Amino acid sequence: MASIISHAAAGAALSIAFAPGGAPARYWPVAIVAAVLPDADSLLYYYRVSYSYALSHRGFFHSPFMGLIVSFLLMFLFFRGETLFSGRWLRYLLVFFLVWTSHGILDALTNGGRGVAFFSPFSSKRYFLPWTPIQVSPMSVRSFFNFRGWSVLKSEFAWIWLPGLFLVFLSRMIRVWTRY
Ligand SMILES: [Zn+2]
Repeated sequence: MASIISHAAAGAALSIAFAPGGAPARYWPVAIVAAVLPDADSLLYYYRVSYSYALSHRGFFHSPFMGLIVSFLLMFLFFRGETLFSGRWLRYLLVFFLVWTSHGILDALTNGGRGVAFFSPFSSKRYFLPWTPIQVSPMSVRSFFNFRGWSVLKSEFAWIWLPGLFLVFLSRMIRVWTRY
């Protein structure tokens, strides 16, 4: 996986870039949690759940299909006041879906572990993207600090944080230019 903090940063960048005007305060934590939540499946890793199972790490929980389910659930839990299928409602749903999916894409850009089951539950095949520049982060916090944490952070800064900052900057400029 990429580290939790970098997944959160990617979620923050995407949610800032695509936020509808006047989003309520709860929008931000919900979006950031959606960015890190796919790694809840890594808890199963500690119970030695094999990668061959759909619910194992980077399996169903990392799929866009699960992202769609979770996005609907988040809308139901936190944005019930929005008119169903209105432009704003769809915008929130799309951001949560995007943020969730960004997690799997970032993991598929890492150079370790197993691939991501993008098409789960329809196919259990694991995928990496053809280019994997992000140094994979160790699973445990202890090995993150003991082990190669610094090189992980450097590669995540280059491939996640910088593009994220650029995306936020670009979206701000577009909003200024179009006075949105
Ligand atoms: Zn992950």
